Amino acid sequence: MRQSQLFGHTTKQDPKDEVSANAKLLVRAGFIDKVGAGIYSYLPLGIRVIQKISDTVRRAMNSLGGQELLMPALHPKEYWEATGRWDSFDVLYRLKAREDREFALGPTHEEILTPLAAKFISSYKDLPLALYQIQTKFRDEPRVKSGVLRGREFLMKDMYSFHTSGEDLQVYYEKVKDGYQKLFESFGLLAYCAEATGGTFSKYSHEFQVLTLAGEDAIFYCTHCAYARNKEIIDEIGDTSHCPRCGHAFSQGLMSEVGNIFNLGTKFSDKCNLHYTDESGEKHLILMGCYGIGISRLMGVLSEVFHDDDGILWPESVAPYAVHLVTLGGDTSVIRAGEEMYRSLQNAGIEVLFDERSVSSGEKLKDADLIGLPLRLVISEKTNGQVEMKYRNQKNVSFAARDEVLKKLVK
Ligand code: ATP
Ligand code: MG
Repeated sequence: MRQSQLFGHTTKQDPKDEVSANAKLLVRAGFIDKVGAGIYSYLPLGIRVIQKISDTVRRAMNSLGGQELLMPALHPKEYWEATGRWDSFDVLYRLKAREDREFALGPTHEEILTPLAAKFISSYKDLPLALYQIQTKFRDEPRVKSGVLRGREFLMKDMYSFHTSGEDLQVYYEKVKDGYQKLFESFGLLAYCAEATGGTFSKYSHEFQVLTLAGEDAIFYCTHCAYARNKEIIDEIGDTSHCPRCGHAFSQGLMSEVGNIFNLGTKFSDKCNLHYTDESGEKHLILMGCYGIGISRLMGVLSEVFHDDDGILWPESVAPYAVHLVTLGGDTSVIRAGEEMYRSLQNAGIEVLFDERSVSSGEKLKDADLIGLPLRLVISEKTNGQVEMKYRNQKNVSFAARDEVLKKLVK
């Protein structure tokens, strides 16, 4: 992509109406644009990050046996009345349409998926089953000061599993827990799996929490054995100075929840008539689990965790482009070398953002740091026919001939 043609651009000043680091950085670097409190547009750079996060999450869910589908955001009121949550779900957007018909904007999808499952599942032979989607959710959140960490409209991956027994559900629950841990690690994040309230049919639900100053949840955690617990439920522990599991010193910190998993038991299958018949023809309620991941929140958490004073440091797996190719100065040999390098990188299948703009060297280098692609390649008169290589997370630079650079990048 040629940077001169890229829609959206960097800005020097922090946006006035944002307090969180993620929103300031993502707005300044041209990844997102604020439409209203908790409502953002994703610009071309931003949507590439979102797509990479989504693709990685999708692969992980497929390997857990999940099948992808897509449910609507617009939910007729009856679905929410059936579970009794039309009145009780505090952040539900309720809207009136033609002929006084009422709808909710979906904040979560048990209300739609459980009746859908009831249409297709009848026998124990149909189970177990896991279905997921990556979809836009709406919540009338009271506080939205954390940029994309808490939106009123946001992207979530929500998976739901269906089982014949509590034991079968538990086995799958543990499998997802392990899968989540590996997934967050693949983004370079250390996520604590914290016990929390909220399990309907189990003592705890589990939240995947990442340490960040912008986090909204107070979490006790143990750096020795990785045990963690949400502060809300902490009364049970009593002594909070030591880890109840291994006895090491307990730390406390603010974290952001990037995912969570719940044992729903028969809470929804009961309300939505979701049954299966066993081998002897007897009818039973199906047990359910649900498993969320905040896709757009992850983008915010990554920029909170991976940034310095100059800008973002995207991990390779989610960077919008792998390489930022920058030409400095208007010298014709530099321009020609830049164009050739750009073509070679593209031919080699490497995702590259090419800064061929006619702006000052200082501005180009500042922008490259702010946007935060993992590798910067500079071609200028000073590089003497070679290419300067600098990784965003390292201080030192090195020089190499163009084809050597290509060889290094094509693994
Ligand atoms: P939180 O505790 O942060 O309010 P939650 O417990 O209500 O979230 P779920 O309803 O289970 O979360 O949603 C699944 C995931 O979606 C969460 O783990 C989080 O990563 C993400 N998420 C929830 N609410 C928001 C929001 N308002 N904006 C962005 N992401 C969100
Ligand atoms: Mg939560």
